[in-house]
Amino acid sequence: MTSHHVTASTCCYCGVGCGVLIEHDGARILGVSGDPEHPANHGRLCSKGSTLHLTGDLDARALYPELRLGKSLARSRTDWHSALDHAATVFAETIRQHGPDSVAFYISGQLLTEDYYAFNKLARAVVGTHNIDSNSRLCMSSAVVGYKRSLGSDAPPCSYSDIEQSDCLLIAGSNMAYAHPVLFRRLEEAKARRPQMKIIVVDPRRTETCELADLHLALQPGSDVALFHGILHVLLQEGWIDRHFIDAHTEGFAALERHVRDYPPARVAELCQISRADLLTCARWIGQSPSFLSLWCMGLNQSSAGSAKNSALINLHLATGQIGKAGAGPFSLTGQPNAMGGRETGSLSNLLPGHRDAANPEHRAEVAAYWGIEQLPSTAGLPAIELFDALHAGRIKALWIACTNPAQSLPNQHRVHEALAACPFVVVQEAFRHTETCEHADLLLPAASWGEKEGTVTNSERRVSHVRPAVPAPGQARADWSITCDFARRLEKRLHPERPSLFDFRSAEALFEEYKSLTRGRDLDLSGLSYARLDEQGPQQWPFPPGADQGTTRLYTDGRFPHDSGRARFHADPYLAPQEPCTPDYPLILNSGRLRDQWHGMSRTSTASRLFGHVEAATLNLHPEDLQRRQLQDGDLITLSSRRGSLILPVQADDALRPGQAWLPMHWGKRFLKGLGSNALTLPAVDPLSRQPELKHASVEVSKAELP
Ligand code: SF4
Repeated sequence: MTSHHVTASTCCYCGVGCGVLIEHDGARILGVSGDPEHPANHGRLCSKGSTLHLTGDLDARALYPELRLGKSLARSRTDWHSALDHAATVFAETIRQHGPDSVAFYISGQLLTEDYYAFNKLARAVVGTHNIDSNSRLCMSSAVVGYKRSLGSDAPPCSYSDIEQSDCLLIAGSNMAYAHPVLFRRLEEAKARRPQMKIIVVDPRRTETCELADLHLALQPGSDVALFHGILHVLLQEGWIDRHFIDAHTEGFAALERHVRDYPPARVAELCQISRADLLTCARWIGQSPSFLSLWCMGLNQSSAGSAKNSALINLHLATGQIGKAGAGPFSLTGQPNAMGGRETGSLSNLLPGHRDAANPEHRAEVAAYWGIEQLPSTAGLPAIELFDALHAGRIKALWIACTNPAQSLPNQHRVHEALAACPFVVVQEAFRHTETCEHADLLLPAASWGEKEGTVTNSERRVSHVRPAVPAPGQARADWSITCDFARRLEKRLHPERPSLFDFRSAEALFEEYKSLTRGRDLDLSGLSYARLDEQGPQQWPFPPGADQGTTRLYTDGRFPHDSGRARFHADPYLAPQEPCTPDYPLILNSGRLRDQWHGMSRTSTASRLFGHVEAATLNLHPEDLQRRQLQDGDLITLSSRRGSLILPVQADDALRPGQAWLPMHWGKRFLKGLGSNALTLPAVDPLSRQPELKHASVEVSKAELP
């Protein structure tokens, strides 16, 4: 008789961070259900979370290390010792010949906090480079900048319960009905209980999230900064601001006040292509509601003006004093399950563990002292787009990629594929062997995946959960932290034979214990947490300093902000149009986004046939007028082209878009399409502060496909 067990863990998809109960027999995962005890979801799961147990197809998994010793050769099976020894020899030789900045690590918001920490220590303390960046650069780096420069700390100040308590909710650039479904369900239930709650959705498309909206502002793509300045203009005009809060807790308002005089309703309505009446209604609801909360995601972040958009939205909260109280505050939704953990452990090239900055000499000295090394490098590391540019230019000669698929997710894909193909040594540490990036691997290292590994994750509301393994990893796959530490020890022997190992970790918990002390006394202090504490008390929100008996629901309740002055800062950034304007050759604006039942590049979701029941295949969505203008019919095969590439797929009429706009799901890549997916078309323009690329706005044209 098979014995059944249940292990409490978390879902590995989005940043809501739902708790799951994994049913298993010790060897195989048999089922999954929502954890009623987990505070993020209280037992709910969405279509992706509830089908996790159907994504265990072993044919899709990397099961043993594979190595090739020449680009023209096929990879063949090897053992862990040979694989990691070879990698350490190549990395050490490259570093000796070309210096530490000739190698790089590109990691992922899918990793657990312990994995991130190991990679950070490896790159910065063993290799001696800040060339470590993650796919969170494509996801949240504008929110990081927005929070830091406006509030002084990269910390979402709210909790999910605030969403339910708010009187006025502005959802900008987020189709949370699809991208954060369980949180959206919580919002639906709250709206049913409190129908007086006002919900405003700001999105160029009429998305599924709009079904809950009292007001939908279908703004011109990319015009968010103008909209937020225009709202502030009206708030000022009508006296709907909180002068006491501004005077007591902020700085820089006078300059912003002057700046937004240039954004009167008539001009903003024109720039944003919305009605003046809707703008005034939006401002009135924000200005007159007892509490106001905003939620945002990729529509603001994935932009060449992402930092300005974040700060302009946070300005509205500071001007109205709508922060640090129930139902109020600026609340970014994180896309990936542990993007927050990445930010905390310093997994962007410009960061260091414990919310420190790589450019700050004191921060570098603190981390170096903690690790017991002389110093950390002072040369800046490369953020994702620049990192792959350096790869293309031949300056990066060995690249380690973990748990992410840049050969689908980075913009301007043709160049990314060229760069990966030309790189002398590419290591890919992955659970799924069918990703586009795996094709470029000289060394493929099989990684454990959901249900198979231990660690912690932090969700969008700063809540840390203990992720527990239910079954052993298949084949020879190993936990990411374990692969990284094993490699680090081999590299240490070659590069620093004189010093004791910094990687004497025998468990994920040992990594957590070391990492958490680096947060002590910092804004995110989670040094009062431990695995035992999380098991005893359940998931907790940071800060959770030593001596705390519970986590922190809400930040800035005393009106003090972590800038040196103790005040939050207004920012008066001008509205700047997206980088690639439409032209007669490329007259349509291409936007991309998520579907309800797929995740990222479908590495995992493509293994569960049930998840294709919602949408079977990718289509390009166009307004019916745009189809008619091109003499196209619904379902015709079309060629979608930008200045950088093209792909062929069916077209679908969609009046949720305005004429002149096109929309494409981001999930389907080269495995399924004639072409490299949506990022064959996107451009590598980046925000000047966050270096996040503009993935939501490229100019394109559509024509009937001419097939041979
Ligand atoms: Fe998983 Fe997100 Fe769905 Fe929750 S909402 S079950 S975390 S995909």
